[in-house]
Amino acid sequence: MPDRVRAATAAPMVSHRGAEFREILAATARQLQPILGTQSIPLLFGCTGTGVMEAALVNVLAPGERALVVSNGQWGERFAMIGTAIGARVETIDVPWGEDVDPEIVEARLKTGDYRALVHVHNESSTGVLGNLAATGRLVRNRDTLLITDTVSGLAGVDMQQDRWGVDIAVSASQKCLMCTPGIGIASVSEKAWPIIRRTGGTARFYLDFRRASDAWAKGETAFTPPVTLIRGLNVALQMIHEEGLADVLARHARLANALRAGANALGLATFASAKHLSNTLSVFRVPQGLDGKRIVKLLANKHGTIIGGARNKLDGKVIRIGTMGWVGEEDILTDLHHLEDVLAELGRPVERGSGIAAASAALTD
Ligand code: PLP
Repeated sequence: MPDRVRAATAAPMVSHRGAEFREILAATARQLQPILGTQSIPLLFGCTGTGVMEAALVNVLAPGERALVVSNGQWGERFAMIGTAIGARVETIDVPWGEDVDPEIVEARLKTGDYRALVHVHNESSTGVLGNLAATGRLVRNRDTLLITDTVSGLAGVDMQQDRWGVDIAVSASQKCLMCTPGIGIASVSEKAWPIIRRTGGTARFYLDFRRASDAWAKGETAFTPPVTLIRGLNVALQMIHEEGLADVLARHARLANALRAGANALGLATFASAKHLSNTLSVFRVPQGLDGKRIVKLLANKHGTIIGGARNKLDGKVIRIGTMGWVGEEDILTDLHHLEDVLAELGRPVERGSGIAAASAALTD
């Protein structure tokens, strides 16, 4: 988190129904719109990403209605679990992890039934795959089916064009490329989705009810007490994104991810995701045979204070995940690679000293 954002979260408290906070709330929503690529007013909730994932499903799926979920990683799996938990009839399209779904397969499945929702994760953080939402959006444009996406780890790091692509509900969270603390869930809803959300007979809901949130928003408020400090932080983070320029922010993510992958590949770590579907906000690398990814993660943290991710799913120990999301610069990538090289060597892996940094530097100066 940038210092400016941290300072904003620590400023003296204001009334969450007062004029000052109303202005902050409005500015936050306004600044999110170009990042989401939407004319809709995004709704903010006091919850994490999973909260708005649940909200997306609970607001559109009546019990027993059908949802088609692209399952190509941990977050698609979570959507399927949530859908099942709320009583929807969930069907999955199972795609090998590391790949995105083939739109032709989705189209063939959509033709087989009246699905209320199609769910496709924008940025799969478990595999480093970027989903082609433009392609899935085209498939639902002339159908009643609503396209729901999770852009928790994508928003403000990779391009998101909600309106142009025909995404009906995009959900995100404050703690990743948006450079803030965890605790704000974001949901952006299309015009097409509102009649479904507002119909009678949907799934029972209260705190995460989009109708209640939207009615409060029309009065310039949130329905319940919002996380005031976090929203002030997010407002400043969004200011910083727009000061840098959204296009430049996205280009920075692309440059850094490209350099990181070049460096890690030079150290002998293959990229997990297929080259056609690479995310710019995080990269996932296969751990070479004979090494345990958990040991790499632990040693990086303990010896160097460098925090990367392992896996909390079937890839546990087999991959490591390194973020290039948010407040990250060239120096972070080069430092990560320097530490990674040291840790790999310490764990007995033959590495050519300096090769990771050299490859990353070359990519950065290309
Ligand atoms: N979706 C994606 C793609 C994520 O990466 C995460 C968290 O890492 C989530 C959803 C869940 O968000 P949270 O942990 O904020 O509930």
